[in-house]
Order: sequence, then C-alpha cells, then structure tokens
Amino acid sequence: MMATEIKGIAASEGYAIGRAVILREEAAPQGITYIDAGQEEAELTRFDSAVTAARGELEAIHARMLEDGREKEAEIFEAHLMLLEDEELIGAAQEKIRGQRYKAEAAMNKAGEDVASMLAALDDEYLRERAADVRDVSKRVIRKLSGASDSDAMQAAAGDSKSKSILFAFDLTPSDTAQLDPSVIGGFVTAAGGRTSHSAIIARSVGIPAIVGAGEAALQIEDGKLVIVDGAAGLVLVDPKDDELARYEALRQQAEGKRALLEQFRGKPSVSADGHQVELVANIGSAQDAVAASEHGAEGVGLFRTEFLYMGRPDLPTEDEQFTAYKEVAEAFGHGAPIVIRTMDIGGDKELPSLQLEKEDNPFLGYRAIRICLDRPELFKTQLRAVLRASAFGELKVMFPMIATLGEWRQAKGLLEQAKQELRSANIAFNEQIEAGIMIEIPAAAQMADRFAREVDFFSIGTNDLVQYTMAADRMNPKLGYLSDPLHPPVLRLIDQVIRAAHKENKWVGMCGEMAGTPIAIPILLGMGLDEFSMSASAVLPARALLSRLDRAKLASLAEAVLDLDDAEAVRAYVEQQVPELNP
Ligand code: PEP
Ligand code: MG
Repeated sequence: MMATEIKGIAASEGYAIGRAVILREEAAPQGITYIDAGQEEAELTRFDSAVTAARGELEAIHARMLEDGREKEAEIFEAHLMLLEDEELIGAAQEKIRGQRYKAEAAMNKAGEDVASMLAALDDEYLRERAADVRDVSKRVIRKLSGASDSDAMQAAAGDSKSKSILFAFDLTPSDTAQLDPSVIGGFVTAAGGRTSHSAIIARSVGIPAIVGAGEAALQIEDGKLVIVDGAAGLVLVDPKDDELARYEALRQQAEGKRALLEQFRGKPSVSADGHQVELVANIGSAQDAVAASEHGAEGVGLFRTEFLYMGRPDLPTEDEQFTAYKEVAEAFGHGAPIVIRTMDIGGDKELPSLQLEKEDNPFLGYRAIRICLDRPELFKTQLRAVLRASAFGELKVMFPMIATLGEWRQAKGLLEQAKQELRSANIAFNEQIEAGIMIEIPAAAQMADRFAREVDFFSIGTNDLVQYTMAADRMNPKLGYLSDPLHPPVLRLIDQVIRAAHKENKWVGMCGEMAGTPIAIPILLGMGLDEFSMSASAVLPARALLSRLDRAKLASLAEAVLDLDDAEAVRAYVEQQVPELNP
C-alpha cells in the first residue's frame, strides 16, 4: 500500500522530509466586549502603547531582514509598518474605542476584520491575498495588548525537536513565515492561502518547500507523523513507505546540491570571470510575474509583453488599469531597476476579440503590433500615456515591437511626444528623459541598424521572430525545428551587426528572444558584447552562474569564428568543444 496523499497548491519548490507539527490557531477575541463610560481615554492610551510596541517589534524584524540581505521580506514588514499608520485600520479601531466604547482588543479585531474582508472580496487575487497582511498586523497589536511576545506560538510549535519539522497550519501569517528558521522547519503546509500569498512568496525566496490551499485534510494530520512534502507537485505523502522515502531522499539531496550552488548568485551582480558586467533581466507577461522574477534574482525586466493585459477579456484595458500594472511592475523591484515596457504586440499568434481583427492567410506577416498601433493612434496613445505616468515611479523604458522602417519608428516616437505633451498640459508627472527603443526582430531593421542606432536609445533583439523571418520558417511549425534555430550563422551575423551598430553610437543593446537565456548561446553573445540578457525568470540564476565561469576577452574570437561556420549544428559542436565551462 502506498502512503496517504494530500493535494494542495504548489507554493514553493523543493522536497522536505520530517515529522508533522500542528500549529494551533491563536484564538481571536470572541464577540465584542465593552468598557465602562469614562474609560475611553485610558483605553485609548493602552491601545496606543500596544501599537507603539508592535511598531518597535516590526522595526526590529525589518532591520534584521535588511541585515540578512532579505530585502523582499523587509519590504513586507515595511508594508506592515505602513498599516500601523493606516487611518482605515488604526484610525477605525481608535474610533470604536472612543465612539462605541469597544475594549481595545475587540476594536482592533473588528477594524482588522472589516478591512480584511473588504480586501478578501476583491476580484484581484493579489489584493485578496493582502487580507492576510491586515490580519497579521491586527493580531500583532492584539498580542501586544495581552502582553505576549512575538511569535510565542511559533516557538512553541517548533519546540526543541532535533530533526526538522514540517509545519501544518490553517494559514501562516507573513510574520510567521519570515521568522521560520529553515534549520528547524523543513517545510510547511497550510489549509488556506494561494500562490501569491505573502507566506508563499516568502517561502519561495527563503527556499522552504511549501504547499498552500491544501484544505481541511492538512489539519486532520496527527502530530509527529512522518511526512514528505513535494513542493513542486503540491503533494504531501503521509506515512511514506521505505521505497518512497528513499526516492524522495535522493531527490532532496540532488535538489539541495543544485540550489546551494545557484544560491550564491542571488542578489549578486552579473559579471564574467574577467570582470565584465552585463545585466540579467526577465521576460514577464503580468505584474505578478514581476514579483516572481525579482524572487528569482532578475535585476529588472527586459521585456514586459503588455499584450497579455489586453487578452482574455471582451474590452480594452483602460489607461488607469495599465498605469497600475506598469507601476506594480516597477515596485516589484528595487529603486533604479530597469523595466522595459514593450507596447502591445497583438496579431501573429495572439488574437484579440476586442479589436475584431480580420482573419489573415499569413498572420505573422500581417497586421500586427506597431502596424496596428500606428493605424489606431488613440489606442496606442492610451498605452503610451499609461507607461509615461508609471515612469514617475521607476526606471521605465518604452520599446516598440516589429519595427521595419525608420518611418515607423519616427511615427511611433512622434506619438510618444504627443502623449508627453498631453500629460504636460494636464500637469501629470512623468520622466521627461524616459528612454525609447525598438525591438530588432525583422531582418529589414537589423540591416538598417546603423541608421536606427543614431535615433533610438536602445535595441532589444527579438530572436524568436528574427529567426522565423530570416529563415522563412514559421515559429509555430514543429516540423521546421531544424530551421528555427538562432545558432544559424545568417542569424548570428545579423545579431553581430546589430550589436556593433549600437555600440558605434554608444547605445546599449539587449536581447529578449529565447536565445538570451540559452546556455550554449550565452558565450557567443557575451563575446559579441551584448549588454543585457532578458530571459524567463528561472533561467536567471543558472545564467549568472555560467557567466561567472566565462572569460569575456577570450570569447571575442569565438564570436567571430562562429560567423564563418556552415550551419547551426556546426556552431553548436564548435561552442561545446571550445567552451568547457558550459559543463563544469
Ligand atoms: C521575439 O520575437 O523574440 C520576442 C521576444 O517577442 P515575442 O516572442 O513576444 O514575439
Ligand atoms: Mg517578437
């Protein structure tokens, strides 16, 4: 017989094996209790000192997180500190004491529940999950009112067990999660919660395997039972058999070894063995992806595919909606992180019901991206104003996709100037110096890169399309795999030409096609002098690790040599042979 299984939402990858420890919920104050008339001022003073004590506790945790280089978690506690200043939360609780004679505990509990349930009812998953933060802060104040110290319950649960424990709880507050000691707690399983809850986010950045949303079954487990947590599969095995234990122990050791190697590259600059620095950034499709990208060690965003904001809905996103999404992306990273917002790239394989586009025989050669935007300037300017407004909150850059001619670029830039003028007239703040660049994904633009380089602020090479247009091979057709390969020398020659043209005009050049995160391509691109590599978030740490082993100076001649080889197969074999660092 196999072990009993509990299924939940995979919140944080990794394997953990240990004994179950159940974290019992602290009881919330039951019902409403009142104070006598005339006691209001004294009760308010008691409440204010509890808030002050909670603030002190949060400041100490915040400082400790910063000291440990755990910036993501520090930000969460910064948000908690802000909640302690919030009128709707703290002001409302004070009002209940003063106006309705609530006891301080009851006032805090009620005000917290009011705000949390308002958030929990929202459509936006991210905001919904913030209800947990509000409850966390209220609980902290209530704990202070009763004189308890921080996380007493957690310490009691973790106990003095010598082997690692697996924590089971209804839900973990972000504070609980951030203070979990990974040397004691091997993983956790909660009945409630979703992938974007802060406890899940923290678990990912600390690297504790975690499963959330596992339902009641997570609470039925007996204390002390042996369990396995498979964080990637969202699976708990209760009472595993010997063969399951052996298999998971092997998987755990393997994953741990790999992660430990990569972990040293988180939060580090991206430099080659000979000290050449580049930027490793992420490709994202939503504001939520930005949070994950930052957790994965990306330095910023090299491509935000904004068309996803337009897809899967009957109407178009408003300027405000877009502004909020772009601002959220900027805020997911630290101050000054580069964020490249690509204007929408609808058409090709991406359809949009709200635009009612006609069916085309060759959609990849059709009415797509900048071609639609220039044809519908009002639609385009709505997006441009949203990007510009968000540029007041971070290092945003704007990038136009599918540019083929200088005329298209100039028209797009002209509309950007118009959008700026509209904001100036309305006295709305934006970054006047915002950089504007283009994607190089059509061979025509690659050929004219020297001319474009005089006018744009940057290039980003889109190899996914550049390959399909150079090789005349539809990127969606699986039979054409041998042609859809960026290592073909005709593609490499274009890339080399584009990088040289940009550098001649002192402009930076990035790449946001899949090629940028492909290990075999990285030595070539580094040798050619690419400045920014944008890739899927999970490729960032492996890329930074590879980069640290490569010698940029030596790779310049490799980058030249591959341009003269016959085809992609020959390039692959040559690079593998010349670059032993690919397989350390
Ligand atoms: C590309 O073409 O390489 C690119 C990054 O854009 P997309 O894949 O969105 O077309
Ligand atoms: Mg493209």
